[in-house]
Amino acid sequence: MTAAVVERGLYLDGEWVETGEWLEVRSPYDGSLVGRVARGGAVEARTAVDAAAAAMREPLPAHKRAEVLVRVAGALGRRADEAARLISAEAGKPLKAARVEVARAMSTYTMSAVQARTLAGQVVPMDASQAGEGKMAITLRLPIGVVGAISPFNFPLNLVAHKIAPALAAGCAVVLKPASQTPLAALFLAELEADAGLPPGWLNVVVGPAAEIGDVLVDDERVRLITFTGSGSVGWKLRERAARKKVGLELGNATPVIVQGDADVEDAAARCAANAFSFAGQSCISVQRIYVQRDVYDAFKGAFLPRVQALTVGDPADEETDVGPLISPAERDRVLAWVEEAVAQGGTLLAGGSLDGGLLRPTVIETPSADAKLSCEEAFGPVCTLQPYDTLDEAIALANGTRYGLQAGIFTRDLATALRAGAELEFGGVTVNEAPTFRADQMPYGGTKDSGNTKEGPAWAVREMTEERLVVVQL
Ligand code: NAP
Repeated sequence: MTAAVVERGLYLDGEWVETGEWLEVRSPYDGSLVGRVARGGAVEARTAVDAAAAAMREPLPAHKRAEVLVRVAGALGRRADEAARLISAEAGKPLKAARVEVARAMSTYTMSAVQARTLAGQVVPMDASQAGEGKMAITLRLPIGVVGAISPFNFPLNLVAHKIAPALAAGCAVVLKPASQTPLAALFLAELEADAGLPPGWLNVVVGPAAEIGDVLVDDERVRLITFTGSGSVGWKLRERAARKKVGLELGNATPVIVQGDADVEDAAARCAANAFSFAGQSCISVQRIYVQRDVYDAFKGAFLPRVQALTVGDPADEETDVGPLISPAERDRVLAWVEEAVAQGGTLLAGGSLDGGLLRPTVIETPSADAKLSCEEAFGPVCTLQPYDTLDEAIALANGTRYGLQAGIFTRDLATALRAGAELEFGGVTVNEAPTFRADQMPYGGTKDSGNTKEGPAWAVREMTEERLVVVQL
């Protein structure tokens, strides 16, 4: 835990602003007070949009935007321990996972700086048609306008970075609403951006009631794009309500993994065990449904379960902890109820299913029924299912048997099988011989079906955040 209670104002138009009311940030592990943040609302959100719109009237050249981004990456490196402890304290994320998140946020800023320096339009080959003869044409990539960004609690630093760093690279000012449970990492990034020389107005952070701030982002016409990461129930409604804006959604998943009989079973078991329970399964691509070909099923189970049982459950501030708390007792109880439902419907409990000092132990359920929530909905907890299959057709059908489509994985040594899975798994990304929890920050990342409608990763995000304008010249 961080030693002292952090106190932060909102970050509006380059100033730290207090509102006279405070929101408390408490540790999901032991309820201790981690910080206090000024409570904003519609008034502060409107001020933030005013500031962002005003900032964009004086565009910042790309090289200056890139320099700020590079400086923030450097500052994150120098203050990595502080950042990791802040994430761990407010999100209850084990320190070792929080340290990985900080390193990834550095990468997100670095890759965004590359985009700031290289993003460009195209030359259109006009004489390719008779109509274009005697003309030249180019496209310009222009900032879309003010970006409204809404982020979730589970990666409070790097998922904020995935919104605000590409937005700056694209030349857009941002109004950010971070998750109420984890606003401190976002405000920490605002401090780093200010220290890096970001002029006022380019980044504004408003913490407070979600619907109130969300309504301003939806209703204000100057906000031209909303980038949202979080649950589908909130995300799809936002998109319906903001019909005339671009709304990018990064939502949930019920992540499947297929282990073929020809796979390196030990390696597959190790990667699945490491990626089903990290941050107590609260990653949108946490391994959740593991399907193993019947001839290697026992071997996989024998390699997997001891690794699950060896995970250390406990205080997220302890360097040895693998699995900490869920974000709230209500979430823990929901996940436990899903486990109980799966067992009541015929699944077999192979590990966990009980509490350890109030924390849910890593839990494995064998062969739950097809309509158990754990078989198709997003668990978002330290729980996974294990199930044998006979043919690849059957495994692909099982993996696709969800309304979600963010990432999926397959373990196989056969190239044709890998390529077939890549083509037939209905997900935005397919990993081969790696858990589908894998993400490097330069990758295109985003889902299909109910998992979303866009791709993040700086090179993709800057395209979403810019508009292409055609300029045709008669020679
Ligand atoms: P959430 O409850 O949907 O919250 C996400 C954000 O939306 C928070 O900032 C929240 O604010 C805000 N929000 C809530 N109601 C709103 C409204 N009416 N208008 C505008 N904003 C509103 O999600 P979460 O529990 O934080 O995150 C977990 C979910 O995110 C999971 O489903 C997970 O899979 C998904 N996720 C997806 C990705 C991806 O990249 N695809 C990555 C990480 C997480 P408050 O905190 O103030 O309520």
